[in-house]
Amino acid sequence: MFRIDLRPALMLVGAVALGSCAGERSTPAASVISGHDNPLLAEWHTPFGVPPFDLIRNEYYLPAFREAMARHKAEIAAIVDQADAATFANTLEALERSGAVYTRVSAVFNSVNAAHTNDSLQEVDRILAPEQAAHADDISLNPVLYQRVKAVYDQRDALGLTPEQLRLLEETHKQFVRRGAALDDAAKARMREINAELAERSQAFGKNVLAETNAWELHVTDTADLGNLSDNLVALAAREARTRGHDADWSFTVQRPSIDPFLEASPNRELRRQIFLAYAMRGDNDNESDNKANLSRMAALRAERARLLGYPTHAAFVLSNNMAETPERVLGLLDQVWAPALRVARQERADMQEMMNAEGIAGKLEGWDWRYYTEKVRQARYDLDPTLVRPYFEVNAVRDGVFMLANRLYGLTFEPRPDLPRWHPDQQAFEVKEADGSHLGVLYLDFFARASKRGGAWMNSLRRQSSLDSAVTPVVTTNFNFAAPAGDGPALITFDDALTLAHECGHALHGLLSNVTYESLSGTAVARDFVEFGSQIMENWMSEPEVLRLYAKHHETGAVIPDALIEKLQASGTFNQGFITVEYVAAAYLDMAWHSLPRSVEHAARQFEQAEMDRIGLIPEIIPRYRSTYYSHIFDGGYSAGYYAYLWAEVLDKDAFQAFKEAGDLFDPATARRLRESILSKGNTRPGMDMYREFRGREPAIDALLEARGLTGR
Ligand SMILES: [Zn+2]
Repeated sequence: MFRIDLRPALMLVGAVALGSCAGERSTPAASVISGHDNPLLAEWHTPFGVPPFDLIRNEYYLPAFREAMARHKAEIAAIVDQADAATFANTLEALERSGAVYTRVSAVFNSVNAAHTNDSLQEVDRILAPEQAAHADDISLNPVLYQRVKAVYDQRDALGLTPEQLRLLEETHKQFVRRGAALDDAAKARMREINAELAERSQAFGKNVLAETNAWELHVTDTADLGNLSDNLVALAAREARTRGHDADWSFTVQRPSIDPFLEASPNRELRRQIFLAYAMRGDNDNESDNKANLSRMAALRAERARLLGYPTHAAFVLSNNMAETPERVLGLLDQVWAPALRVARQERADMQEMMNAEGIAGKLEGWDWRYYTEKVRQARYDLDPTLVRPYFEVNAVRDGVFMLANRLYGLTFEPRPDLPRWHPDQQAFEVKEADGSHLGVLYLDFFARASKRGGAWMNSLRRQSSLDSAVTPVVTTNFNFAAPAGDGPALITFDDALTLAHECGHALHGLLSNVTYESLSGTAVARDFVEFGSQIMENWMSEPEVLRLYAKHHETGAVIPDALIEKLQASGTFNQGFITVEYVAAAYLDMAWHSLPRSVEHAARQFEQAEMDRIGLIPEIIPRYRSTYYSHIFDGGYSAGYYAYLWAEVLDKDAFQAFKEAGDLFDPATARRLRESILSKGNTRPGMDMYREFRGREPAIDALLEARGLTGR
C-alpha cells in the first residue's frame, strides 16, 4: 500500500524550500544563456518547451550545474547588495525568480538519474552532492538575505499583500528560521556542527544497512524447500546463486523482493526461521556494521537541534511544518487505529495457528510462519488465482482507465505525442488538454523495470506550473517498475500495479491542475503528510465495480471482467489488514518515540525499542515494519517524525472519497469541481487543513479508513 515517491526534484537540495527557484520560463530565461553549445543551458526549441532529452549527453551535466549555480549565486548577490530597502517585490519575488537555470538543470538531471541512470550520471551525482549542499547553505545562512526577508515579514500586515503573497512570505521566512538563520553566532556554529555530524552518521547508517543486507544469503539445495514459488522467482533465485559463486541451486537474500516470496512459499520452517531472523537483526549484530550507537546518537543530536530552534522535541519541530501540526495529533491518530488493528491481527493469528496445528505441526505460530500461513488462508478463503486476474489488466488499458477517470472528473483529455523527445524508447508522452481543448500540460509515463531505473514508483516535475511573469505550464513524469512484456506480447500487470498506476497519476494530476502564481507554492510542493492525499484518492475509484467494468477488459477478447472476479478482488481487499496495519503503525510509534526525546540523551537502542513495543502491546509474532537498526526512512531518509504521513493522508483520501459516495455519483460534477478548486489547483498556497475543510465542509473523519481496512467493530 505504501509507495515511494521522489519529491519534486528541487525539494531535495533546499533551493525551492527557500522560495528561491523560479520556473523554467521557456523564453525569457533562455535568452540570457543563449550562445552556449550546451543544450542544458540553451533555449529549447521543442514542442511545449519540454527538455530535449535526445540532445543531452552525460558530459553536459557537470558544466551546466556549475554554470547554473554560479548564475544563481550572482542573482542572490544582486538581491543582497541592492541599496533599496527590502520590499516584497525586490526581495521575495526576486528570490522566486532566482535560480531558474539551476532549477531546470536539476529537474532534468534528477529525473533522468532516477529513471535511466548510468555510471557517468552516478559519478556526477557523487561529485555534486557536497557542492549542492554548500550552495543551499550559502543561501539559507546568508545573514543579510535573511534580514531582508525578515524586514518584509515584520511589516507583512501593512503591505496589502494578496493571500498567496502573504503565504509565500510566511513560508519563505519560516524556511529560513527552520534552517537556523535567526540564531546567534554561537548557536549557528553549533547548528553547523550538528548538521555535519548528522549528515555523516546518516550516511554511515545507510552504508551499514546496505552491508548487512548484502552480506547475508540463504543457499537452498533441496527443490522441495522452494514450495510453490513461481518459475520466474525460482529463476531469479538461481541467478542469485550463480552471482554469489555457487555452481547450482538457489540463493535468497534479505531484500524484500527475495525474502517475502520465500517466506510465503517455503514449507521448510527452519529455513524460514533463519532468513526471518537475518532480516530482523540487520544492524543489530554487535559487529562493525552495528547501527545501535549510531542511531542513538542521531536521536540525541536531533533533540539538541530542536531545543536550539526553540522546540521541545524533534517531533514537535518537524510536525510544526506539517498538516498534523503537533505530536499529540499524530499519536491521537495512531492510537485510534492501533487498538482495532491489534484486535484483528490477533484474530488473524488465531486463524493461522489453527491451520498450522491442523497440518500436524505442533507448537506456537512464530513470526517466520506468518506469511506462509497467510497465503494458505488466503487461498482457502478467497480462491483468488492471480493468473485469472492479469489478462484483465493490460497496462495501456489500465492507463486509459485512469485517463477516463481524469476525463469524467475534470474533463481532461490526453493526446499521444510520440514526437516529443524521451529519455528511453519505452517512455510515453501525452499532451493534456482542458475540456475546452486548451493546453494544460505534458505528462510522461515510463512503465517498465530495467537495470538503469531505481526501484519503486514515483512522480516528479520537469517543469512546475507558475504565472509570475508569464504562464508556465507543467511538465510531469510518472515512473514505474512493472514487469516488461516478453517480446511483442501484451504487458499484463497485477491489480496492485493498477492501483500504483492510478496513485502516481494522482500525483501527476496534482501537478497538472496547479493554478498558482508562485512556483515554490505550486502543485505537489505541499507538506509531507498532505502530498499523498492527491495520489491515494485516485486509488479509491480503481477498485469500484462500476469503474472496474469500464477499464478492466480481457486483452484478447475485450470481455469485461466477470462479477465473480470483482467480488473476489473486493473480498480479499481487507484480508491480512490486521498484520499490515499493525506492522506499519508499530513502526510509526517507534519513529515518534525516537523523536520525542525531551533531552539530548543517548539511549540503548535495543532496550529503548523493546520498551516502546511493550508499551503499545505489540504481539511477539509481528515485528515493526522497520526495526530501529535498519529504519532508513527515519535515519537515512527524510521521514524522521514523518512515517505516520501515509496513514494521515489515508484518513483524508478515504474520507474525501466518501463525499462522492454521499453525492450518489462517483463522478459527481459538483464534488469533483470542489476537489479541483479547493485542493488540487491550490498547491501550497493555503494550509492543508483549511483547503480540506473547504472541500468537505468539516474536518476529516477516520471512519471510512477503518471501514476500508476492515478494522471496524465486529
Ligand atoms: Zn505517493
